[in-house]
Amino acid sequence: MTNRRVLIVGASIAGPALAWWLRHHGFTVTVVERASALRPGGYKIDIRGAAIDVVEQMGLKEQLEGLETDMQVMSFVNKAGKRLASVPADLFMGRGEADLEVMRGDLSRILYDATRADVEYIFGDTVVGVDQADGTVTFKNGEPRTFDVVVGADGLHSVVRELTFGAEQEFVNDLGHLVSIGTVPNHLGLDRQELIYSAPGRTLNLYSTGKGHDAKALFLFTAPGLTYDRHDVQAQQRILDEAFRGAGWETDLLLDEIARADDFYFDTVSQVGLKRYGEGRVSLVGDAAYCPSFASGQGTSLALVGAYVLAGELAKADHPEAFAAYERTMRPFVERNLQLGRDNLGRMVSKSAFQSWIGAALMRVLPKLPGKDSMIEKMTKPIHDAARAIDLPQYRTAADDHL
Ligand SMILES: Cc1cc2nc3c(=O)[nH]c(=O)nc-3n(C[C@H](O)[C@H](O)[C@H](O)COP(=O)(O)OP(=O)(O)OC[C@H]3O[C@@H](n4cnc5c(N)ncnc54)[C@H](O)[C@@H]3O)c2cc1C
Repeated sequence: MTNRRVLIVGASIAGPALAWWLRHHGFTVTVVERASALRPGGYKIDIRGAAIDVVEQMGLKEQLEGLETDMQVMSFVNKAGKRLASVPADLFMGRGEADLEVMRGDLSRILYDATRADVEYIFGDTVVGVDQADGTVTFKNGEPRTFDVVVGADGLHSVVRELTFGAEQEFVNDLGHLVSIGTVPNHLGLDRQELIYSAPGRTLNLYSTGKGHDAKALFLFTAPGLTYDRHDVQAQQRILDEAFRGAGWETDLLLDEIARADDFYFDTVSQVGLKRYGEGRVSLVGDAAYCPSFASGQGTSLALVGAYVLAGELAKADHPEAFAAYERTMRPFVERNLQLGRDNLGRMVSKSAFQSWIGAALMRVLPKLPGKDSMIEKMTKPIHDAARAIDLPQYRTAADDHL
């Protein structure tokens, strides 16, 4: 086979997960990451359905269980901070018993630690060109090198996608919202609780996994068609400030704090739709290929499953057939989860004060309603079905056969 040396671009979730599976199948793997070190931060993320099977096969499930957020309660608060309704966190998030919720940074670190011994990681560099004819990759800083296969795991604004398939606008569907996340002091002493404040067009979530821990703030707001410089953090903070300043509850204080956060994250809520998952010797995985948006709650699970399938197919066949098989296996699963993201987003930001009030009122009465179990099942079924909407192929290696 002619696809043994693989370059992966991006070291967040999809990149290190793909590196793990490629190493498992005997490939030689290099990962290049633009940031100078593994990026910390992010909100809590869910690993569900088929992705649970993937982390179990990687032998990482137990480690992840030890880092579960163990969130207990979600409460809706009003402008004055009064708790309008409180519901068990598992119920609110539609989390099944087998699902895992961990911090994004913890998952990224676990995947990196599980691969760093036998995968070459290069931080502080990126790719500026890929010669499809002979596989020569040109780096921004390092010397050119040759690889059999190049995979972009470089997220929503993938450079590998742009170099291979064309400009971002063709593939990225902006859903008209912006999201910002950062670590802030836990000034309310939250202990495994999440508070949600909803104002028309804006939602602010704040949670902490324990009294002695920091808190995470998540600002989500409607901003159709708004454009900004992705590399200008101050401009992003101004946009956030204009959207939320004076909105009530703890917003002003949290705006001041998030502006000081060293893991400040700001992006559009967008989806990626690609016609093909491979071109020549280049393919994509994770958000670069099929970002379902954070509203789906499935971006991380898609990345983990996609890494498993892509590596397995590359182990079975040369890259043209492998990329085609990867796409055939993933596409129905991807489409289902993209739909979930679009459906969920409408429920995450209220259009009016009345809608915010109704949402909180429903949550207040729901746990007391006689038919609550079937109602909850109906509400959470779409996410469970989407998370399981793939039959994972089994890919055996020579090492597996000796077990
Ligand atoms: C710091 C951070 C915080 C996040 N927080 C959340 C969150 O709170 N909630 C949520 O749902 N999702 C969050 N995400 C996105 C989430 O990680 C992804 O949706 C999902 O896990 C899929 O991961 P991914 O590896 O495909 O993409 P990403 O997690 O987006 O990772 C892409 C990686 O590629 C790197 N990269 C980008 N461009 C280049 C380049 N040109 N050259 C080399 N490297 C490059 C990035 O630095 C990053 O490490 C966050 C992502 C990051 C990077």
